[in-house]
Amino acid sequence: MAGADIKQKLRDFGVQPTSQRLEVAEVILQRPQHLSVDQIIDALRQRGSRISKATVYNSLNLFSKNGLVKEINVAADRRYYDSTIHAHHHFYHVETGELTDIPPETLGMMKIPALPRGTEQEGVEVVIRIRNKRT
Ligand SMILES: [Zn+2]
Repeated sequence: MAGADIKQKLRDFGVQPTSQRLEVAEVILQRPQHLSVDQIIDALRQRGSRISKATVYNSLNLFSKNGLVKEINVAADRRYYDSTIHAHHHFYHVETGELTDIPPETLGMMKIPALPRGTEQEGVEVVIRIRNKRT
């Protein structure tokens, strides 16, 4: 995605495109991918960016709040940002930390329990935890 397109995309999602937000957006939105904050910071450093960690965190929180990226929490201390924002599922490899998309139509219907009173279903997103076969 070219710089001008990314700027427009941020605006479309109600995010004021500051130069620092654009730097973060250029890393995460360049293709369909799942990145941790550390991976995003590494990528920014490789491009020679001096953006602070706090600014990266703040930008990602804002992107997530505005629906520009999706947050996937695979464990209490492991969060990824997904540039694919439509509903889909994931394989999470617990040994490599790799997340892989599962197209929604390939996962069978699940039995959904009765929802708590006064709530409605917003969505179902499944993380299937996998590991290498033990022989
Ligand atoms: Zn995904």
